[in-house]
Amino acid sequence: MKIWQEHAGLLHRGEWHVHTSYTDGRPGVLEYCRRAEELKIPLIAFTEHVRRKLTYDFGGFLSDIDAAREESDLIILSGCEAKVLPCGDLDVEPEILGEVDYPIFAFHSFPADQELFIESLKAVLKSRRVNAWAHPGLFLARNHLNLEEEDLSELLRIMKEHDVLLEINAKYQLPPQKWLALARSMGVQTVRGSDVHYLEALESLRL
Ligand SMILES: [Zn+2]
Ligand SMILES: [Zn+2]
Repeated sequence: MKIWQEHAGLLHRGEWHVHTSYTDGRPGVLEYCRRAEELKIPLIAFTEHVRRKLTYDFGGFLSDIDAAREESDLIILSGCEAKVLPCGDLDVEPEILGEVDYPIFAFHSFPADQELFIESLKAVLKSRRVNAWAHPGLFLARNHLNLEEEDLSELLRIMKEHDVLLEINAKYQLPPQKWLALARSMGVQTVRGSDVHYLEALESLRL
């Protein structure tokens, strides 16, 4: 059971991908929550960037979330956005992966090797408690790589089997429509994750 399944009715009404001033976002947790309430966004997931070696106080981040829950009626999820490493590991300490409600993963810097990409992705989808694939297709597009339909179908099949969401990312206009259509036909669930980095984007990036 993954946490999104408890809030499946809010996959497209909530905002499931937000960065704060702990990394490269602007305001803090509380400011986002107040604005989300004004905008009647019922759920917000803070998916802060993580690395194995953290450069900020993750405990402070979690405390801010606890404090915001005290004063808000929103559903507030703690989360992290972890980078996929070659061979299917994630660049995050296992304790953090186990501690947050909503861990998601993404490809950031990664070798431009399609086979390695597919193998690493499969390993992450199968072996982790990840909830969603963030900005799906961004790495491929930036590296002028293109998945064959057969590979895409296989990946989506594994996502469906392991209850991993396909993020609809308004910031990058991803995934490609073709992916979305195939995902829907295969019963893979999608989630709205706008990769919010500043307060106004809570509204402006709504699809
Ligand atoms: Zn990212
Ligand atoms: Zn992000």
